[in-house]
Amino acid sequence: MEVRKGLRYRAIGRQRLDRIPQLLRLDEDQRIALKAVAAVLPFRVNRYVVDELIDWGNIPQDPIYQLTFPQAGMLERGDFMRMQNLVASEAPEEVIRREAHRIRMAMNPHPAGQMDLNVPEIGGERLPGAQHKYRETVLFFPSQGQTCHAYCTYCFRWAQFAGIEGLRFADGEVSTLTRYLEAHTEVSDLLLTGGDPMIMTARALRRYLEPLLDPALDHVTTIRIGTKSLSYWPHRFVTDPDADELLRLFEEVVASGRQLAFMAHFSHPRELETEAVREAMRRILSTGAIIRCQAPLIRHVNDDPEVWADMWRLQVRLGAVPYYMFVERDTGPKHYFEVPLARALRIFARAYAQVSGLARTVRGPSMSATPGKVLVDGVAEIRGDKVFVLKFIQARDPKWVNRVFFARFDDQATWLDELQPAFGANEFFYEPALHAMYEGAWQPRWRRGAAGPATMARDEAV
Ligand SMILES: *Cc1c(COP(=O)(O)O)cnc(C)c1O
Ligand code: SF4
Repeated sequence: MEVRKGLRYRAIGRQRLDRIPQLLRLDEDQRIALKAVAAVLPFRVNRYVVDELIDWGNIPQDPIYQLTFPQAGMLERGDFMRMQNLVASEAPEEVIRREAHRIRMAMNPHPAGQMDLNVPEIGGERLPGAQHKYRETVLFFPSQGQTCHAYCTYCFRWAQFAGIEGLRFADGEVSTLTRYLEAHTEVSDLLLTGGDPMIMTARALRRYLEPLLDPALDHVTTIRIGTKSLSYWPHRFVTDPDADELLRLFEEVVASGRQLAFMAHFSHPRELETEAVREAMRRILSTGAIIRCQAPLIRHVNDDPEVWADMWRLQVRLGAVPYYMFVERDTGPKHYFEVPLARALRIFARAYAQVSGLARTVRGPSMSATPGKVLVDGVAEIRGDKVFVLKFIQARDPKWVNRVFFARFDDQATWLDELQPAFGANEFFYEPALHAMYEGAWQPRWRRGAAGPATMARDEAV
């Protein structure tokens, strides 16, 4: 399909579900079920996702439909039935909201350690919109970039989507960030994330990016933008009123001598097939920026080696770089989406085996866990013990990086905290140091620098 020139962005949320003509194929019960789950889980689509990405001849199995439209199985049976009754009986919005909140709170909106590790501090002032977990990279969540052009049903950030529409630029937000970065010359990468920073206008984004180009921040050589806009709204870079202004801004970042990297979230090759996304990628690459690609492995969406192999090949062909395959974390409708680590590894290995070396820049399956990013690198049998070979590819203490360690093989385990150390050990090598970090008794050397012992809060993202 050609790029639709006149298409303007407009979010379609739960209240406007009835305006999606394709949903008329569903019967009344199915529509009520959809509304019931959409009241609890994040729901937002737009005309591009509905008209160009979803194959309506194949619902509910269609992967992009599963990615964006909530399904009955995503809630526990009892919760679903209660919600369905409320929606069917047209209960007041207030009642629906209260019930939705209760269900969400039971779904672990803040995964392990999230509340107490990693908000950086400068001169006694906290940077609430930032995280500094790994030495080289600071994560920054611009206050205006906290929504997305559509929502993924598995999103672990859904807790933050409630009631945050129209957030204003927080005064002092950027100057505190730049002061922090000036004091931390160990930081080479700044990663803007969200939500999705590309939800911002070019003007708003400029207020965040321009101060980072200051020569005092020459050590920050890479600016990354974590985004799903290429999948959910590629028109952002092509036909939006400020698309050209946005591209000029990217050129300025590149002209400052820095790398501008789009950390593009692509879940399925379908997202790379439209003329709109291809034009968007061409335009971004023409500014000198690069595009790296990452996504979680999600049951019902992309739990198939052929899907990943096709996606990586297509990414390389379009000039992008495959980067990470993530394991889905322990929050939200986990039971619906999760893939055991052993199966994730088989999917990764089968896909990896069939692509050329240029696509083998990808690493995975990787868990963004409390101690670091842990790669499930293989399964081995060592003197009769079947084990997972694990490896830190990112860690709170840089000394752990690239270190291999072993866990007892477990067919069912879906996350690091379900694994047991192999060979009779009672803990993994990093556990004593990690506990000491939690208790504030010890910090790795880079955290003990000029700013004193870092206080910690929210954990991970990306
Ligand atoms: C993944 C991640 C990063 C970036 O790590 P890279 O391996 O450099 O891509 C930074 N901070 C956090 C919290 C992360 O989860
Ligand atoms: S694009 Fe990212 S932040 Fe937005 S809904 Fe999907 S997973 Fe969540």
